[in-house]
Amino acid sequence: MDEPIKMVDLRGQYLKIKEEIDAAMQQVIDSTSFIGGEAVRRFAGSLSAYLGGADVVTCANGTDALQVALMGLGLERGDEVVVPAFTYVASAEVIALLGLRPVLVDVDPHTFNTTAALVERALSPRTRAVVVVHLFGQSADMEPLLRLASEHGLAVVEDNAQSLGGSYRFADGRVASTGTMGTVGCTSFFPSKNLGCYGDGGAMTTHDPLLAARLKMIANHGQREKYRHEVVGCNSRLDALQAAVLDVKLRHLDEYCAARREAARRYNERLLAVDPSAAHFTLPAEAGYARHVYHQYTITVGGGRRDALREYLASRGIPSMVYYPLPLHMQPAFAPICRVAGPLAESERLAGSVLSLPMHTELTESQQDRVAEAIADFYKHNP
Ligand SMILES: *Cc1c(COP(=O)(O)O)cnc(C)c1O
Repeated sequence: MDEPIKMVDLRGQYLKIKEEIDAAMQQVIDSTSFIGGEAVRRFAGSLSAYLGGADVVTCANGTDALQVALMGLGLERGDEVVVPAFTYVASAEVIALLGLRPVLVDVDPHTFNTTAALVERALSPRTRAVVVVHLFGQSADMEPLLRLASEHGLAVVEDNAQSLGGSYRFADGRVASTGTMGTVGCTSFFPSKNLGCYGDGGAMTTHDPLLAARLKMIANHGQREKYRHEVVGCNSRLDALQAAVLDVKLRHLDEYCAARREAARRYNERLLAVDPSAAHFTLPAEAGYARHVYHQYTITVGGGRRDALREYLASRGIPSMVYYPLPLHMQPAFAPICRVAGPLAESERLAGSVLSLPMHTELTESQQDRVAEAIADFYKHNP
């Protein structure tokens, strides 16, 4: 019997590091420091070192990271924040929750990320910040975005939930980790993310120590000193068991990213053989400036056949997912409250054509062969 193919394989990944993980969790339980304490401090230090020394503020999840980051920027009600229309809802949700105005921009169809040119067209006198999403594991083209932001005095919030471990190369050759280039980077440790814990978790990263202190205060009920509340904050903390898991898994993150990149390379090779002229589908593009860490391996399917292909794969026992089926300006909650900047044609087209294939650190060559064979068979039967 062939191993069933899964979208993600958290169990297989756990079994390889079971002893390290179990010991780290047992240590937290023995210490009974379940909130805060040594495990959380240690992980924050490890992540900071991994990211080249940026300050790290841990929190409860990636959505909170985005919310606390925006709370820390001192924006005012009605201020505009630019965000791509083709992203996970959290990137825009927090903008609206804080009484700010989401301004939706389109994305580049090859990288799925927004660009400086698209953001520039969306600017108004009320624009204060831009949420740049590094979607599916690939950095947005940051250098022009950072230049534009600095020209217009905008804060840059990087939504790095899908791309921790990835990097960006500037024109002068300098390489920076995603999440460390903007005003503040936000990430998620949701179990299926590239660095996932065994529950919820998140973090913010910044090179501005004053901002880091402010974010820490906001996430801790707006207090620096116990029971003295300087601002209205919230309660968002990473728990110690998750921090212990993350500190172990962070040591394997480079290996995990390499495994994802290798799996992507194998998909590219096999799928190129299925459809050499890209008549039926397009493979994910890797930009020259990015080290893509393939949170998702996402093809775009032409001819309006995405859903048919997805159903065919399912009939062969192969899971796939649509991230994301509806751009934000078409969501009932967001349509009435967003300003739409320019046509969102690429976001709409991608929503109807993207298909993410199984991608995780345990994916085997033979499993990928089966995925490629099934795709080939679909087009053989439906030329
Ligand atoms: C997962 C994700 C988030 C939210 O993270 P949670 O930990 O689930 O709150 C935000 N943005 C993007 C792009 C994501 O993929």
